[in-house]
Amino acid sequence: MKVIYPGTFDPITNGHLDILKRGLNLFEEVTLLVSFHPWKKTLFSIEERVEMIKEVTKDIKNIKVESYSGLLVDYIKKNKITGVIRGLRAVSDFEYEFQMALTNREMNRDFETIFFMTDIQYMYLSSSMVKELAKLNADIKNMVPKEVMERLQNKYKA
Ligand code: ADP
Repeated sequence: MKVIYPGTFDPITNGHLDILKRGLNLFEEVTLLVSFHPWKKTLFSIEERVEMIKEVTKDIKNIKVESYSGLLVDYIKKNKITGVIRGLRAVSDFEYEFQMALTNREMNRDFETIFFMTDIQYMYLSSSMVKELAKLNADIKNMVPKEVMERLQNKYKA
C-alpha cells in the first residue's frame, strides 16, 4: 500500500514524528508530503521545511520526503496513492479532519484516509504552539528535535 502523510510541517514536531513512526509500524513506506501554498503564510519556506524533515528523519528507514503545491487529490491520483495518514489529537481536530477526509473522498474514491491517535504526551503539541513558545524564548526541547529547536531560535533571534 502506497501511503502519504501530508501536512504543512511548519515546523515538524515530535508529535508529527510520533504519527510517522506509528505509520511505519503498519506500512512498508511512508512519504511525508509537505504542502506549499503561496497564500498560506508559513514561518519556514518550503525548502527549509523539507530540509529540516530530511535532517531529523535521516536515521528512519522507509521514509520519503516530497513537496507539492496543488490539490491533494490530484497528487494522489497521479502517484497512485491508496492511503493517506493523518494524526488526531483532541476532539478539536476531529471536525476539521472529518471535513477534509470527506471532501477528498468526494473528489476521489480510490484511496482511504487513516487516522492515528497521538501519544498522550503530544496531545497539546502543535507547530503554532511551538512557534509562539519559541518567540517568547521558552524551553521547547521536549517538543521538537534539536535541529528544529536551533532553527526556531535562529529565526527569532533579534
Ligand atoms: P495541516 O496544515 O495539514 O493541518 P500540520 O502540519 O499542522 O498540517 O499537521 C499535519 C497532520 O499532523 C494533521 O493530521 C495533524 O492533525 C497532525 N498532527 C499535528 N500535530 C500533531 C500531534 N502533536 N500529534 C498528532 N498528530 C499531530
